[in-house]
Amino acid sequence: MLKKIYLARYHGFCMGVNRAINITEDTAARAKGRVTILKEIVHNEAVVEKFRRQDVEQAFSVDDVSDGTLIISAHGVSPEVIAQASAKGLKVVDATCPLVSRIYDIINEAVSEGCHIIHYGESDHDETAGIVGHASKHITVAGSYEQLLALPEWKDRKLGLTVQTTAHKDEFAAVVKLAKEKWPEIRVFDTICNATTQRQAAILELAPKVDLILVVGSQTSANSKRLASISESVCAQAHLIGTAAEIDPTWFGDGTVVDAVGVSAGASTPQFLVEEVLKRLSEISGGKAETILLKTADTTS
Ligand code: SF4
Repeated sequence: MLKKIYLARYHGFCMGVNRAINITEDTAARAKGRVTILKEIVHNEAVVEKFRRQDVEQAFSVDDVSDGTLIISAHGVSPEVIAQASAKGLKVVDATCPLVSRIYDIINEAVSEGCHIIHYGESDHDETAGIVGHASKHITVAGSYEQLLALPEWKDRKLGLTVQTTAHKDEFAAVVKLAKEKWPEIRVFDTICNATTQRQAAILELAPKVDLILVVGSQTSANSKRLASISESVCAQAHLIGTAAEIDPTWFGDGTVVDAVGVSAGASTPQFLVEEVLKRLSEISGGKAETILLKTADTTS
């Protein structure tokens, strides 16, 4: 019988997502002509759908946008994309998260000092594409330990190591260890963002209190998937769900030992989806479960 519902201390929208959404709302309200978001402003269907309803268009390539304003998502893009949009006469509004832009600056500076960069991240993620585009001849992407170990010896090269903002800090620590064994002189730039670290730590805080963790977020959201995989590693049961409708009541049925459930949400998940999950869990408990909101000391990140 479900008795307690814990909400993670840090969950949901981060600074970069809040900023990108505010920029998009502001642009949609002020722009005279068409407004188009390049790809997804953040990786969450509810947010993407909200802007669709406000007549903000979506395109997957600059080639598909003929006029008006083009908004660059929180994940950022390569300079070529911005140049291509400007050359077409589009007004570019850049909602790239400042913590992603910071990686561009770190890489540009390291490259100017003669470094070749190894970027540890998902090769098919928008953030990675934007990062690579900032110094494509000087960056090699590794998406796994195996890919890292398979890289050349590069004995005469100065090397730098950067990492996807949403990576897990323990995984990155292991990557740093491997990299240092292979290239003792490599310069390490920890570019994991604070919001990611806080949300991951909040899962570890939840885990000992609960029998099951629900992470609210999209399958396309790297940080939500990461929270779900951390939850799976520290809790008996964990599920990544897009909405409250995906909660299966049998997870809490007779014969299960789920007395307490933990709820978290990825950095691109709107709070209303979290509230709907809390409401659904309360219904499943017959209104008997106590909801415990772990206090947030800092709501700015
Ligand atoms: S998760 Fe971090 S890097 Fe990504 S948008 Fe949020 S604050 Fe920026």
